Amino acid sequence: MNHEELNQLLKPKSIAVIGASATPGKIGYTVMENLKESGYKGPVYPINPTAPEILGVKCYPSVSDVPGTIDSAVMCVPVKLVNSMAEECGKKGVKGLIVITSGFSEVGRKDLEDELVAIARKYKMRVLGPNIVGTLSNSDKMNASFAPFLPLDGKATLITQSGALLIAMDAATYTRRVGFDKMVSIGNMCDVDIADIIDWLNDDEKTTCVSLYIEGLKDGRKFIKSGRTSKKPIIALKSGVSAHGAAAAASHTGSLAGAAKVYGSAFKQAGIVQASDLDNLFDRTLALSLMPPLKGENLLIITNGGGVGVLATDAAERYGIPMKFAPKDVQEELKKHMPEFGSAKNPVDMTGMAGTEWYYETVRFAIAHPWVDGLIVLYCETAMTNPLEIAKGIKKALDEAGMKDKPVTVSYVGGEKSAAAMAWLVENGIPAYGAPDLAVNAMAALREYKLLRETAKEPAFKTNEKARKTAMQVISAARADGRNALTEIEAKQVFQAYGLPVTSTELAKTEDEAVTLAKKIGFPVVMKIVSPEILHKSDAGGVKVNIKDEAAAREAFNTIMKNAKAYNADAHIHGIAVQEMAPWGTETILGSVNDPSFGPTMMFGLGGIFVEVLKDVTFRVAPVDKPQALDMFSEIRGAPILAGVRGEAPRDRNAMADTVEKYSSMIVDLEDEISESDANPVLVYEEGKGIKVVDARIILKKK
Ligand code: ADP
Ligand code: MG
Repeated sequence: MNHEELNQLLKPKSIAVIGASATPGKIGYTVMENLKESGYKGPVYPINPTAPEILGVKCYPSVSDVPGTIDSAVMCVPVKLVNSMAEECGKKGVKGLIVITSGFSEVGRKDLEDELVAIARKYKMRVLGPNIVGTLSNSDKMNASFAPFLPLDGKATLITQSGALLIAMDAATYTRRVGFDKMVSIGNMCDVDIADIIDWLNDDEKTTCVSLYIEGLKDGRKFIKSGRTSKKPIIALKSGVSAHGAAAAASHTGSLAGAAKVYGSAFKQAGIVQASDLDNLFDRTLALSLMPPLKGENLLIITNGGGVGVLATDAAERYGIPMKFAPKDVQEELKKHMPEFGSAKNPVDMTGMAGTEWYYETVRFAIAHPWVDGLIVLYCETAMTNPLEIAKGIKKALDEAGMKDKPVTVSYVGGEKSAAAMAWLVENGIPAYGAPDLAVNAMAALREYKLLRETAKEPAFKTNEKARKTAMQVISAARADGRNALTEIEAKQVFQAYGLPVTSTELAKTEDEAVTLAKKIGFPVVMKIVSPEILHKSDAGGVKVNIKDEAAAREAFNTIMKNAKAYNADAHIHGIAVQEMAPWGTETILGSVNDPSFGPTMMFGLGGIFVEVLKDVTFRVAPVDKPQALDMFSEIRGAPILAGVRGEAPRDRNAMADTVEKYSSMIVDLEDEISESDANPVLVYEEGKGIKVVDARIILKKK
């Protein structure tokens, strides 16, 4: 990614507006008007073959007629003209195309978009869009869009896939008092994508927080990388649930891989904080753009009302922030600025008697104390106090203490005076909210950012050449046989090559062979149908467990054969798998999908009813290392079951994590081959006793 190229595209020194119009109401007019009104300093060249001038600016029939150089061309011409205009821009030496025009891949005309990209490549131009509102920047005084005005000035940058939302958020920045330096409409991302802009913003002087509205990513892995390497906090709001999850899937994993869950995991892996809705995106952006991350776990809440203090405490628990009592020395000092009936513990309740002086003294002392990592200041409007004066006291205290690396959020509950005080606080760089819950949520975002930074690392990954070779032999044989589904025996061979602990399993073609194998493996054994057409073996009466002797083995062989034929008369039956009977353990499921945005992705969950009914599963984009795997185990609702409940010993999560790591390298290695797979169930034993994969399924990509 060339930083200079994006500078020319997004911070152009000169702009041509192709399709500029003299008719108010047209996009080509609005863009001209916006560039003028926003105070853009560089030359603007309207391009229009018929108009002599637009809004007092001399018009040119074509870019080739423009005397000076052009960094960026904003395209507002009808779709049928875009590519020929792009060609002209290329010849003129234009560096960037901001293509507002729609009618490309979003309506099925990917061909036009591909052509546009080809032209851009030919002339080394970069393309923003198509199908966008444009791009806006306060620091460049540039509104190169058809959004009405520059957003309220601030330190965040918004990148959005929805143009309509950009326009709406632009206006809302003023009512919500959340400032943005830039707003970039990213549209179809035919060339420049979200990851490119994130990378580019690393060196942007003004931006302190990147705020994203995402509908769907094309290159999920590139996106994760840009998140991991971003020097600035990123917050994302993802809309839209699964389209691909709905696609009929042959395995559990496929049907469980809702986009929302995969995206959630991907954000985590990328070190990206999430927003739950639009309000939350604004609120968290405000905090992340103004405050440093919460570096430790000691949060102090200061209040003049017990009620809001308790609400904030509840919220802290909800958002996972541990609340601790302040140490004795801190409490001693805090008691100086409250009446006898106040509380210095945490929340620090100065009571309704607290005026500006107490707020000032308390905040000043607290923020400077080494025990305190972050501060939430709550205020309930009272008849005796002046909200704005208190706000000024808070600000003065913070300025004097000079603790720039500790975050502070504020909540004011009250009426108009409180609203005015909050606006003042935000203008002075202190995030303030209308409810304690919001101030705590904002602090939680600052904490999440810090925690994510620590864990969002690229896992080490090494191709396992030997395993891959074995796996490819099995896969090629199945493909030669005209199949996309591996049998359990084949799938277990692939799993085993990658070191997954599978039950030893062998194929018997006849009743006698079954008996011989059972004796070799040792009773009790399990017998299962092996047929590429019967993927869910139990459904076909194709699984018999706990077979104790020869007579039972003979009976099981015949029953399974009979059941399978009754279930599907056309099924090709390879024979019967005879395998060791694993002792009972906690049933879990491991699986993989090939996510359309993120590629090979791991799934983990508890098996049986947990996966069927509760869908208690979690995902990680592969490769997944052991620490990440352990994190997956703690993420599901059923986590306590693995940790050991009611006197039960904890399960062997370590062995499980090891297997997740190996499984994940398998799906990365075999990315071009495996479409989806699962190990369902994987039986997990007590700590130290390992795990056993008793069933295996691999569906190949169609070739
Ligand atoms: P399918 O999922 O195709 O119906 P499985 O191979 O998963 O078939 O077998 C069904 C169930 O039988 C498993 O969920 C597990 O409870 C039990 N089972 C299968 N194989 C073994 C085995 N080797 N040892 C112990 N239990 C097994
Ligand atoms: Mg199974």
